[in-house]
Amino acid sequence: MEANDKREKLKEFYLKIRDCDRCELSKVRTKFVFGSGSADAKVMFVGEAPGKNEDLQGLPFVGQAGKLLDELLGSIGYDRSEIFIANVLKCRPPGNRDPRIEEIDTCKGYLMEQIKIIDPKIICTMGRFSTQLLLDTDKGISSLRGNIFRVGNHIIMPINHPAAALYTPSKMGVLKEDFQKIKRLIDSGGEISDSEEGISYLESDTLEDKQEKDEQLGLF
Ligand code: URA
Repeated sequence: MEANDKREKLKEFYLKIRDCDRCELSKVRTKFVFGSGSADAKVMFVGEAPGKNEDLQGLPFVGQAGKLLDELLGSIGYDRSEIFIANVLKCRPPGNRDPRIEEIDTCKGYLMEQIKIIDPKIICTMGRFSTQLLLDTDKGISSLRGNIFRVGNHIIMPINHPAAALYTPSKMGVLKEDFQKIKRLIDSGGEISDSEEGISYLESDTLEDKQEKDEQLGLF
C-alpha cells in the first residue's frame, strides 16, 4: 500500500474506533489513545496502556516513560514522528493497574488492524503485555528481551518497558544496549545476519492469520 493510502486508512480506522465503548475502561477514560506517528513507519513500538498523562492528552508515551523513549530514539538518530507508537490498550486502566485479560482480548483487534495497515517491518514490543500478546507466549520479558523473532512478514524485538527501566537502574543499561541492536536491525533493513546472537524463528501463525482466526471466533 502507498504511504497516502495507509494514512487515509489509518485515519478512517481512527474515526471508526475513537468512541469505542466495548469495555468498562471507556467509562473512566478522559481520552481514547489511538497511537501516533507515521502511517508509513518501518518501525512500530508497542507499549502497554495509556497512563495519566496519555489519558489527559490523548497521545501515547507523553509522560516520564515517553521522555525516556524520546531520548532512546534520539540516541539512534530517530524522532518519534518517523516511527509509530501504539499500546495494547487504548484506554487507561484506573490507577495504572495492569491490563486485564478480558480488556486485552477486547482491545487487541485494534492493535492488529493498526499493524495490518501500517505493515511495519520491525515491531518493538515494550514490556510484558505487548510482548506476550504479539508473540503469543506466556514467557517472561526478561527471557525474551533482546531476541529477534520472525513472525510472518514482521520482525518482533521485545525490549524492557521504559517505565521499568526508570524504576530499576539495571534495566536501563540493558534497554540502551537493546536500542543499539534496534539500530543495527533497522540499518540492515531487518535482515540482520543469522550469526547475530539471539535470532529466533517462531513457527507460528502470522499476525494476520491470528487476527483472521480470532475474527472467525467472533473475538472482535
Ligand atoms: N506506558 C505505556 O505503556 N504506554 C503509554 O502510552 C505510556 C506509558
